[in-house]
Amino acid sequence: MSKIVFIDTLPNTTRLKWLQLLREALGNEILLLPEEIDDEDVYKIDLAIVANPRPRDLLRYPSLKIVHSVWAGVDKLVSALKSEELSGLKIELVRLVDPKLSVSMAESVLAWTLYLQRHMPEYAHQQATKNWRQLPHINSEQVRVSLLGAGEMALRSLELLKKLDYRLSCWSRKPKQLEGVNHFCGINGLKTMLAQTDILISLLPLTSRTYQLLDKKTLAWLPAGAKLMNFSRGAIINTTDLLRLIDSGHIAHAVLDVFDQEPLPKSSELWTNEKVTVLPHISAPTNKETAVRIVADSIIAYRTKGVLPKCLDLNLEY
Ligand code: NAP
Repeated sequence: MSKIVFIDTLPNTTRLKWLQLLREALGNEILLLPEEIDDEDVYKIDLAIVANPRPRDLLRYPSLKIVHSVWAGVDKLVSALKSEELSGLKIELVRLVDPKLSVSMAESVLAWTLYLQRHMPEYAHQQATKNWRQLPHINSEQVRVSLLGAGEMALRSLELLKKLDYRLSCWSRKPKQLEGVNHFCGINGLKTMLAQTDILISLLPLTSRTYQLLDKKTLAWLPAGAKLMNFSRGAIINTTDLLRLIDSGHIAHAVLDVFDQEPLPKSSELWTNEKVTVLPHISAPTNKETAVRIVADSIIAYRTKGVLPKCLDLNLEY
């Protein structure tokens, strides 16, 4: 009988919790840790469930067909699969798509949009300096909020933002028609959208095409005083360029939840810049209970009906 391996780099207690929940949800399937699989048995493994694995650890299983991540972002795995090191591995990669995760992201998008719209960083600073000063009130209908991406995270966020009447735009690879949202695509579309943005939110996957998409050239397309958030992957923004544009006053504030290196090193100047809000990658944490059900259901559907879950397009890298 085919078996499943769980490959991760998690702390031991977290690993054991995932294992327990997955085993309960998978019923008759046999889910093993790599150390529970002898070298003679590695060929019996055709499926792997992964949580931030070291990509080279997948090479041990020659019959591997499907790798299912319990995370939504799988950029490290995608770039490894495209590299020389893992080029021999012919697998389908499935990432977590969990409506609960999209709701958490939408909550974060709304929370930090309000934080920026209602001048919360400035009022926190004013309190620290005992400064009583009322800043101009801006209604949500006047605030132009633009999202990079129109996928699972972005669409749910747009739904929530619509309820507060923000002026909404989004940008994605393919053309789309979205009710109540101006949609843009292509580099000219990006330029047009950024020029009419007060708050920009990145919800793009990290790929070779989105790497450093926001640099001195594209960030300069934003109007002076624009604010931004990055909730997807750190490397989508060139941090040096961002800091320069913050120093010049072109960018008024950045809320960053994701970084090139995590945890953010103590030496980073982002920690102490009062125009930067640093969050420890918390905008949409995986919910183990719902994630386990989704992963188990897709594996059971594959085993019983041969139905493959939606897989990543490795050419597009997302
Ligand atoms: P998704 O459903 O795959 O959506 C990706 C969106 O990005 C799509 O709209 C796609 O365009 C667009 N896109 C991709 N490449 C593009 C390009 N080169 N130019 C323009 N648009 C491009 O992904 P998702 O589920 O929304 O997740 C997005 C990212 O959020 C994940 O990859 C992950 O990195 C991040 N994330 C972060 C957290 C956190 O806690 N911070 C939690 C979960 C996820 P099309 O629609 O045209 O295909």
